[in-house]
Amino acid sequence: MTTLSRRQFNALTLSTATLAALGPAAGLFARRRADAPSTLFEWRETVGGAKVAFGEGGNALLVMSRGQSMLIDCKHPGLGATLRREAEAYGSPLSMVVNTHHHGDHSGGNSAFTKDVPLVAHARAKPRIIAQTEEMLGRSQRVLQGLEGGDKPASKQVIDEVKAFIDSVAGIKGEDFAPTRLIDQRMEADKFGELEVHFHHIGAGHTDNDLVVYFPSLNLVHMGDLLFHRNYPFIDLSAGATTMGWQESLREVIKFCDDQTVVIPGHGEITDVNGLAAQIEFFNKIREVVKHAKDVESMTKEEVMKLTPGAFEGYGLEQIRPRTLGAVYDEMVGTR
Ligand SMILES: [Zn+2]
Repeated sequence: MTTLSRRQFNALTLSTATLAALGPAAGLFARRRADAPSTLFEWRETVGGAKVAFGEGGNALLVMSRGQSMLIDCKHPGLGATLRREAEAYGSPLSMVVNTHHHGDHSGGNSAFTKDVPLVAHARAKPRIIAQTEEMLGRSQRVLQGLEGGDKPASKQVIDEVKAFIDSVAGIKGEDFAPTRLIDQRMEADKFGELEVHFHHIGAGHTDNDLVVYFPSLNLVHMGDLLFHRNYPFIDLSAGATTMGWQESLREVIKFCDDQTVVIPGHGEITDVNGLAAQIEFFNKIREVVKHAKDVESMTKEEVMKLTPGAFEGYGLEQIRPRTLGAVYDEMVGTR
């Protein structure tokens, strides 16, 4: 995890409202590819030739089959065109795009796809995505600043793509970001190329509209933000998050995984079923920490938010730790 510069950290902490709408926006400035600047995202191959795009938002997954490709998650606003160009450079045009949930670091690039590619999301994601449109448009300016600044500015092509998005903002409406195929069942199966794909919505967890996307024949699953692998998780109580529900979702996913399953988190490194179990355990431990602080040490919420639990040493997204602790406190005392 790249450490944020003071300027970047300040930029992130200036607007908590923006952060609340975007989720863990700290990923915004994370990890620019250092060795080969020919792509903005760091594309890493995984099982079955699928590729994971790291950096500039939640982890995206590109799966290819029979000359078509499917993309799961769309990065920050302004980056849709770049993401699409880099994904399709692998040779297969996109025939399906998915949002694992509405947060802007997973759906911000949507408008680059919705006109000609079916975009799948949970039914409850749609109104939330439309409601955050103005925020997304404003946010793209900050994405551009992030790409232009720093030690390794993005390529001219990427900068031009983001600027073109910003120039077109006046003509972009909420509907341009909106998913066009809505999932409202606990599990829906579909076919993509020769692959079967399962969309699971087990219940509210990270938000009220989380989708888990599973490819049984590849034994590959994208968890969206139900997994912040070895990172402090963003618990979006305002969007219906519940850590108990979150754990339940993880337990249900573990049931269809085995020890070979490749697990893609929304944030963090590629992992396996142990990463899912560790996320369940994270919530058990952090509840213990907060309960002890509150009931035994009589700490206020503000004091709890300043804790640095030793059990999570080395966890990334350290800058959202206070909010993680605060959300667990709020959940415990019943104020949400
Ligand atoms: Zn999220």
